[in-house]
Amino acid sequence: MKCIKCGRTKSGKKKFFICEDCRKFSEIILQIAEETESEISSAESLDIETHDIFRLLTDIGFTTTLNPHTAIFHNLSSVLLDKALRDQSEVSEEELNKEIRTTKSWTDALELFEDAELIEVKTERYKRILIPTKRIEKIAKEFYMDGALSDQVDKRSAHFCSGYVMLQLLKKVAEMKEITDKESLPYGQRPRTLWTIAMFLWINAFEKNEGFDEEQFRKFVGKRGIPTSTWSRIIRGLETVDSRATQGMIKQMGFKSGIRTFKYEDYVPRVMERLRERGRMR
Ligand SMILES: [Zn+2]
Repeated sequence: MKCIKCGRTKSGKKKFFICEDCRKFSEIILQIAEETESEISSAESLDIETHDIFRLLTDIGFTTTLNPHTAIFHNLSSVLLDKALRDQSEVSEEELNKEIRTTKSWTDALELFEDAELIEVKTERYKRILIPTKRIEKIAKEFYMDGALSDQVDKRSAHFCSGYVMLQLLKKVAEMKEITDKESLPYGQRPRTLWTIAMFLWINAFEKNEGFDEEQFRKFVGKRGIPTSTWSRIIRGLETVDSRATQGMIKQMGFKSGIRTFKYEDYVPRVMERLRERGRMR
């Protein structure tokens, strides 16, 4: 049998099933999505330093840059944030094609950005025009408020946007019930790498672990057939313990019997505790 979400196999009579980890993770994703929506619509500022849930998304956003299939989310976020910051009210498809080279169709990516309410799309003479929303303007301006127009701030806001778009995608996987639901996913395929990596990092924290080691991570993703090159890229990304530049989920890295160990930043257990409480209230 094969898990319809992560691709893990196990022996059994049926062709497909949903594995225990994916069941748990689907529930967590739906809670994260709920929490994010309620924070985004009620929060006056989108400051990630004071909103743990935004920070969680920012820190997972880095994984979109490591995968050619999802790099489009990150690149599109950067371009849109830049336009929003300059108060440009429309972005044409030609402009997009000039700024981002991709062999993928825009349709599915744009739909996710629409789901996230970061853009509206209109069509004029068979060409699409993107209209940045108030929401993306708010994100763009929030990050630049203190005037720190550095490359790192730039990366961080794009991480937040792409992390938020990624959440829309993960939510679609969380809602999958049958293998045939795959067809309605963007590009008609499951984002297996993103799903599996976020699943490992977040379930592990949700279950009150303070951290993890390289071996646990390797085993978890290995069972799901994620190629070695991909997980070593992620490990390298996690090693960059610099909260501004790439990700800030890991506060400490060490070695134990020659194996790399990682410890979560303090906000991670905090946000997971909140999600557990939310789950209990349901
Ligand atoms: Zn699974």
